[in-house]
Amino acid sequence: MNIGYKNLNGWTKADHDSVFEFADSYKEFLNSGKSEREIIVAALEIAKNEGFVPLSEKASLTPGDKVYELNRNKGLMLAVIGKQHLSKGFNLVGAHVDSPRLDAKQNPLYEDGGIAFMKTHYYGGIKKYQWTTIPLCLSGLIIKKDGTHIHVCLGGEDDDFCFTISDLLPHLAGEQMGKTLGNGIEGESLNVIFAGIPFVEDDKEDVKKAVLILLRDNYGIEEEDFLSAELEFAPAFKAKDVGLDRSFIGSYAQDDRVCSYAALQAILGITIPEKTAICLLVDKEEIGSMGVTGMQSRFFENSVAEMINLSGDYSELLLRRAVSNSVCLSADVCAAYDPNYASAFEKQNTPFAGCGICIMKYTGARGKSGSSDASAELMSAIVRIMNDADVCWQTGELGKVDGGGGGTIAQYTANLDMDTIDAGVPVISMHSPFETVSKLDLYETYRAYTAFYKSNIER
Ligand code: MN
Ligand code: MN
Repeated sequence: MNIGYKNLNGWTKADHDSVFEFADSYKEFLNSGKSEREIIVAALEIAKNEGFVPLSEKASLTPGDKVYELNRNKGLMLAVIGKQHLSKGFNLVGAHVDSPRLDAKQNPLYEDGGIAFMKTHYYGGIKKYQWTTIPLCLSGLIIKKDGTHIHVCLGGEDDDFCFTISDLLPHLAGEQMGKTLGNGIEGESLNVIFAGIPFVEDDKEDVKKAVLILLRDNYGIEEEDFLSAELEFAPAFKAKDVGLDRSFIGSYAQDDRVCSYAALQAILGITIPEKTAICLLVDKEEIGSMGVTGMQSRFFENSVAEMINLSGDYSELLLRRAVSNSVCLSADVCAAYDPNYASAFEKQNTPFAGCGICIMKYTGARGKSGSSDASAELMSAIVRIMNDADVCWQTGELGKVDGGGGGTIAQYTANLDMDTIDAGVPVISMHSPFETVSKLDLYETYRAYTAFYKSNIER
């Protein structure tokens, strides 16, 4: 009898064909958008094709109904109504669709040295040096004075051009190379090369004017339209298999689209669950879950209220009971052990790529600060579900003690009086322009969320 604990490499017993097939569809999902808006459109499209309809179109809800509620095109709730009344609680998997990137400033365009640039303000936690000298694309929304919406999507890998940010040549970088990694590239120097052919008038060259003419003639955009726009620069490259055996996927924005996709696919496979199954895709996690589209917004509670109302007997108390009796998997990525930076981790309590979904009791920083710290009762209940479904899972924490830290939406769902635990995919090079995950972990995370949706934890 084996009474010791050792986490297993999941590849040894996985169905490789299923793992690879799932990974292929995931790569398509990643490639279907860069911004949170584009990825929500892609997720909604997939859900609609599987029969999800707007909550507002329903006169009543019965078990098995598939409904959705869109949050300002940046967030999405999908629900499959369960046999039990919502006030008995639901099973929620919550992931986020926003990712670190470079937002264009509100007044972004200028010219210097014969080049037109776009000024940016980075969004989320980035290592700035990673964002220079890579191909970038631009996506977002410009609303013209007459109210016309222009969805911008320029410079992606299928286009014959892209954008980029310069870095200093090593020959002249003596001073820069003496700086720390953190301040070698200044935030204010993350200016994107946007155009270079001048408009010539009275022997004067004007590249910015040429850009404005181009924007006006091709897109009907004026400079003032930038002031209200949301424009995001992201890495232009597509998702790709990594490794000779194609065991990994490399891509921008896998934090947290890898958990978002696993949660999405899991709920699509649910027919009539015991408890209502909910997949929630939120925005703004990378900057603190703020705002109307973040997890701290009332959007989610309001959507649950609408569902209770359509179940026939709304009251404030039933809403509170529904939330209070529910369980939430905070579906977010964690840091996989990286042998290149071994000293950042404590190997006995760190998730490994290829060892399955990581169930994390707590996140946080410096003494678990900012963590919701799930209970032993909840952790063991989730572990039982994983073991019963033969899911390959592991546990761990975010790096070594006092090495840094981070948080997820867990603290905000827990604040609603909902039992919450973190469970997601380990990532290598998190928050970089090209993050790496194991296909095995993606697939086991999908299986884990599926098992959770089918479960019935009594509080
Ligand atoms: Mn995340
Ligand atoms: Mn993140």
